[in-house]
Amino acid sequence: MIWDDVQKNTGTMESQLKKLGASCDWTRFKFTLDPKIIGVVYKTFKKLYDQGLVYRGERIVNYCPRCGTAYSQLEVDYVERDDELYFLDYGTVTIATTRPETIFADVAVAVNPKDKKYKNLVGKTAKIPLINREVPVIADNLVDVSFGTGALKITPAHDPTDFEIGQTHKLPLLKVIDEKGRMTGTPEKYIGMKAEDARVEVVKDLQEAGKIKKIEKIHHLVGTCYRDHGALEPTVSKQWFVNVKPLAEKSLEAIKNGDVKITSKHFEKIAVHWYKNLKDWNISRQIVWGIRIPAFRCEKCLEWTITEGETPSQCSKCNSTSFSQDHDTFDTWFSSGQWPFATLKTNKKGDFEKFYPTSVMETAYDILPFWVIRMIMLGLYETGKVPFKDVLLHGLVRDKEGQKISKSKGNVIDPIEMADRYGADALRMGLVWGALVENDISLSEENINAQRKFSNKIWNAARFVLQFDKEAPKNIGFKVKMTAIIHETSKHLDKYRLNQAAELLYAEFWHWYCDVCIDDAKKGEIGSKELKWGLETFLKLLHPFMPFVTEKIWELTGNKNLLISAEWPKGLPKT
Ligand SMILES: [Zn+2]
Ligand SMILES: [Zn+2]
Repeated sequence: MIWDDVQKNTGTMESQLKKLGASCDWTRFKFTLDPKIIGVVYKTFKKLYDQGLVYRGERIVNYCPRCGTAYSQLEVDYVERDDELYFLDYGTVTIATTRPETIFADVAVAVNPKDKKYKNLVGKTAKIPLINREVPVIADNLVDVSFGTGALKITPAHDPTDFEIGQTHKLPLLKVIDEKGRMTGTPEKYIGMKAEDARVEVVKDLQEAGKIKKIEKIHHLVGTCYRDHGALEPTVSKQWFVNVKPLAEKSLEAIKNGDVKITSKHFEKIAVHWYKNLKDWNISRQIVWGIRIPAFRCEKCLEWTITEGETPSQCSKCNSTSFSQDHDTFDTWFSSGQWPFATLKTNKKGDFEKFYPTSVMETAYDILPFWVIRMIMLGLYETGKVPFKDVLLHGLVRDKEGQKISKSKGNVIDPIEMADRYGADALRMGLVWGALVENDISLSEENINAQRKFSNKIWNAARFVLQFDKEAPKNIGFKVKMTAIIHETSKHLDKYRLNQAAELLYAEFWHWYCDVCIDDAKKGEIGSKELKWGLETFLKLLHPFMPFVTEKIWELTGNKNLLISAEWPKGLPKT
């Protein structure tokens, strides 16, 4: 079922790209779940595992009880929220928390070693209210002295900072909220309650027991699910992790050496920041749709065997032959992070050797931390080379008021509809127009329509030039100016200033070539041969932006080869 849908949608996407004039080599088309691609992904996973860079660990993960899956650090959407901060009586000390329902999972109370007021408390115990369990008071630098009372309840199974403190002090993990977001392992009355309902109950019980000293309002950041926007539940779970530190270090080096260039200092800084702060990468996802992790667990001794996809024949530890495969699938960025080498290694023979590293990676800037930095890490790891030399990031398409395009705002501009109405060339020019690197793109129907007029202008000018037949003395000024346009355009394109190239060509074709040169030709100052050379040169320069109209006119000029494979114009030789 899903497979059929994907096949159908892949076809739609492919035909949309073709319609918009993407000049890809379609004979090398690859689908993300192509068995050969999966084979490469498995190989990389096994290699990482064999080299100790993949491990199974109990780690705190950002779990969405509604989606039923864990998300990586990158996928957490932090939103500001107003909550209540409860000051609870722990006997020897008062602690502050926004999550009183997790007190049953407390394993310690921590204070900052520099905090003088608690100096004598470290090494003693505190008592969890309602259950009266004693926990040690420990000292750790991660405790923020200015938060609450400066004493923190430590719940390693349900909070990322507490988890770290727990690791340092070798504290046990106690879990009181399960995968479905319900209470477990608590006093009987809360078991099975949803965590948010349990909070209300626990607060009531704490109040009755006289254990709440005060309640304050707090404005803070809460991690939410980027899909359903509900709160995420930090929880401990067994997952597959990649130890990213060695991979991130190599990537940082590649950026420093200039092996890979991000064509904007601003985004280079962002990439560097990510590399320096990446935590181990959780690559397990609890979703059915994806590449299933080739990890097999021995049903007898529970030992894991990692393969390149095939079920192992025998457990190396106990010789058992019964295995069950992990149900989890790979984080999609783990497989798409291998795209540059995976596609080239599974395509035509010699492609990898010929085309890797590729030249430019072009994508929207919002995907930089998800995709681009992972492609660099995995490309370097698997091939020893960066996957691409330049990274060109473009902005997000917004409407003419600069608003995000969304269905609810009713400002969606359907590219296919626009291409049908105004032509793909006009849409392409409309998108490039004003598209500065780092900035979002304001797209409007008026703008696309203006480019349709430009397309008509080219067509009408060409029709005139192709039937024009008049001799004139050599006009060196015309050729000099044309040469300058070629050089200027090439310079912009080499620096990825696509918008400037497009705007230059628009202005020069319209206001110089059409308004001035065609007029001069009519007056006998430019001959038909030169005028035609000028037209063909403009066609070459405009082809990357407007492939359809330029290719059609090129055909009418009597050229036998396709314009797309014509040589880039040079102009007059430099003197
Ligand atoms: Zn969710
Ligand atoms: Zn075994």
